[in-house]
Amino acid sequence: MYQDIQEILISEEEIEAKAAELGKAIAIDYKDLNPLCVCVLKGAVPFMADLIRKCEIPLEVDFMAVSSYGNSTKSSGVVRIIKDLEASVENRHVLIIEDIIDSGLTLSYLIDLLKGRKAASVKVVTMLNKPARRTVDLKPDYCGFDIPDAFVVGYGLDYAEKYRNLPYIGVLKEEVYCS
Ligand code: 5GP
Ligand code: MG
Ligand code: MG
Repeated sequence: MYQDIQEILISEEEIEAKAAELGKAIAIDYKDLNPLCVCVLKGAVPFMADLIRKCEIPLEVDFMAVSSYGNSTKSSGVVRIIKDLEASVENRHVLIIEDIIDSGLTLSYLIDLLKGRKAASVKVVTMLNKPARRTVDLKPDYCGFDIPDAFVVGYGLDYAEKYRNLPYIGVLKEEVYCS
């Protein structure tokens, strides 16, 4: 597994420090708001786990799984809900926790959906952001790292469901895609 990685883009230590920084910032902004943190499965799981432990305020966690219609490399913006929330978002301050924002299509659909369900507010925290690939006007409210337009894996992110358990974020070797 480790030999499939061409380059480590963000180290375990950098990730840890950034998750702590974001968690503390969110704790200040959401103090007394009891936010509902919506973790988008599966990629955001490690980030959620690190983030909420550095966010020392009352909060709740729920999960959502979505899949974008379209081919494997390009999302269409039409999203299928595979697993919906258990909690009602009505009058709740919702914080969506994402692994990465690429085109932004999936996330903009989710934001509209949760606003339509009458959330009091909907904001987004993402560990990674690829601004160069954006096709909709969407900026994360909290962001770990802006990264270049490369396909990355690790820290929750997969290629064909693998590499999610790498503790760092890395670029896959080209031969892994081509073999
Ligand atoms: P968007 O709708 O923003 O284009 O899609 C975002 C989703 O695409 C992410 O949640 C993730 O599943 C996938 N994705 C986008 N870029 C990457 C990447 O560099 N690596 C991996 N593993 N997944 C990515
Ligand atoms: Mg995601
Ligand atoms: Mg994936």
